[in-house]
Amino acid sequence: MRIGIDSDHAIVIGGSLAGMFAAHALRNHFAQVTVVERDDLPEDAGHRAGVPQSHHAHGLLARGQQIIEAQFPGIMAELQRDGALETRLERLVIVTPAGKMTPTQDAESGTFVSRYLLEWKIRQRLMSDTRIRFIFRAEAVGLHTDASRTRVTGVALRYRKGQTGDTTLYGNLVVDATGRRSDAPRWLSALGYDPPPEETVNSGVGYLSRFYRRPNNFPADWDGIIINARPPHNPRAGLILPIEGDRWHVTLGNYAGHYPKAEAATDAGFLEFAQQLADPSLYEAIRVAEPLTPVKMFRTPTNRFRHFEQLRRTPEGFIAVGDSVCAFNPIYGQGMTTSALGSLVLAEVLSDRSPGFERRFQRALARAVDAPWFIATSEDLRWPGVMLQGASPRLGTPLLRRYVTLLLEAACADPVVSRAYMRMLNMLDLPVALLRPAVAVRVFGHALGRRLGLISASDEWALSPAMIAFLRTQALHQK
Ligand SMILES: Cc1cc2nc3c(=O)[nH]c(=O)nc-3n(C[C@H](O)[C@H](O)[C@H](O)COP(=O)(O)OP(=O)(O)OC[C@H]3O[C@@H](n4cnc5c(N)ncnc54)[C@H](O)[C@@H]3O)c2cc1C
Repeated sequence: MRIGIDSDHAIVIGGSLAGMFAAHALRNHFAQVTVVERDDLPEDAGHRAGVPQSHHAHGLLARGQQIIEAQFPGIMAELQRDGALETRLERLVIVTPAGKMTPTQDAESGTFVSRYLLEWKIRQRLMSDTRIRFIFRAEAVGLHTDASRTRVTGVALRYRKGQTGDTTLYGNLVVDATGRRSDAPRWLSALGYDPPPEETVNSGVGYLSRFYRRPNNFPADWDGIIINARPPHNPRAGLILPIEGDRWHVTLGNYAGHYPKAEAATDAGFLEFAQQLADPSLYEAIRVAEPLTPVKMFRTPTNRFRHFEQLRRTPEGFIAVGDSVCAFNPIYGQGMTTSALGSLVLAEVLSDRSPGFERRFQRALARAVDAPWFIATSEDLRWPGVMLQGASPRLGTPLLRRYVTLLLEAACADPVVSRAYMRMLNMLDLPVALLRPAVAVRVFGHALGRRLGLISASDEWALSPAMIAFLRTQALHQK
């Protein structure tokens, strides 16, 4: 199909999650949407080169699940039919820097699924929509504009071996969804525009991940576990997320530039790394589980927020979404949810496609991204050597951080506080909700109780009796 310069056509560069969420929003506002992806169309749900992060555990926050289910009705049930685990959120144990968080006693449940199965399902839904077409093995290499260079009119494409097609694709709107390594700043510069100002935080996170088979009869105390690092002394974090196929996706991470060494990618090294987490549960679990894949390593040295909304001059017909705009420290699991949120913002802004909607979109997106960016970076900045560049520290951050420390201590004992914290982490509430009187009174009450010696510090999470019994049986089998 050839689409001319005059047709009502939107082009999305990048066929990963942010690109697909954007395509979903665009399809109601343009006659045709084309998604251009440089990877091959995968034959099944699995890793692909353009998304190397899928080797690492991906948690989908509750807000993300809500948005995705609303956009693709029935998709969570479909994922569950394919083996994704639906579990009550209280069965996801979180060990914060202050200790084990008290279960929230919510009836809410969540679906745990690998990133690649989620992406596969969403792509299947979009590929059956006649308003959306995908072009695979096509790499965008630059933007086309009109003669005055004030309007983007299309994308220059280079095809991978075995693929042919038009080398220019024309459209009324081009959306950059090429992820954290986006070339959009370079493309804009080549057209005589400034690149977007960047705010960065050098969190220096290194990841190690592998898949395990969940042991049969594993004691059912929890379905997944997240063990946070403990600033400033223990920079190691780890998580087990249950995914389809009775597997555990296990990721270990190191903060603040303490990147895992190559030895940590061996069987023994991976276990040794896990043993140094602030809580023994993850290590004890994987010690008796069968590894299914080799260990993969990944580094995300920098959190980056590209402030497209601050540009004084931008061409019409161009916007950016997803990680291309804001790439977080992945440890907070915000990327997919924020990309989904971006598509809601896009749909809303597109309801009035009058001149200047591109700028209105970038502004609205920046506002939506602000809270998750603040959550991630203000915590990362607790680490010595981690610094904010390209923006001034926000007023009151040290005070807020002190408050969060007290809040985490209270969350280890008080389900009301842990619920408020979980809702904020899951992007169901804004961070400001943690300051509501109903929460703050409990936080300060708990802090006072501890200072007066009325409440003892919460115990470290010890292994449960069921887990200890299970480990004993495993040891007997191994003898
Ligand atoms: C290690 C790690 C762990 C993470 N864990 C989580 C988590 O637990 N929870 C969570 O919500 N998020 C997590 N994220 C973030 C999440 O992966 C992303 O937010 C999500 O994939 C959306 O990103 P995106 O679509 O903007 O970019 P990406 O997923 O990076 O996709 C970019 C796409 O653009 C394509 N592309 C690139 N350049 C071109 C080009 N020139 N032409 C055509 N196509 C191109 C690529 O092939 C790719 O398909 C993690 C990220 C990392 C790095």
